[in-house]
Amino acid sequence: MSYDDNNIFAKILRGDIPSFKVYEDDYTLAFMDIMPQADGHTLVIPKFKAETLLDIPADELIHTMTTVQKVMSALKSTLGVEGVVLMQLNGEAAGQTVPHLHFHLIPEHLRKLKGHGAEQGDMEKIKALAQKISSAL
Ligand code: 5GP
Repeated sequence: MSYDDNNIFAKILRGDIPSFKVYEDDYTLAFMDIMPQADGHTLVIPKFKAETLLDIPADELIHTMTTVQKVMSALKSTLGVEGVVLMQLNGEAAGQTVPHLHFHLIPEHLRKLKGHGAEQGDMEKIKALAQKISSAL
């Protein structure tokens, strides 16, 4: 599968466009979703160029899932939530809109989530949540 270097998350990884970062290491980046399906909606992406879960080697995936686990823990401790939805879409046919592998961490009950990628959130609120979450990472 050919990877599109101009997708929005590739641009965020290069620093070409800004993001509210909550965590970064050599292999991964975690940042806020700007169209949150609930307060604290965070995305974790590998730095490896993969479009879907099928395009990443297992050793890279382990780093990504380690970050997913860290961020989930931070969401629970900083936002005081009991549950976090972990969502990951593969391919346009499944509703994937950004062709760089990513994991959605959404601290809310599945039944209460807002529409997917539907509406831009309050950027000041998202920024404040990013600071809160990153303080635990
Ligand atoms: P997908 O539909 O590919 O599973 O999820 C893509 C996610 O990226 C959506 O939840 C959408 O709100 C989010 N998104 C789209 N554009 C941007 C952007 O420019 N910055 C950030 N931080 N998130 C974005």
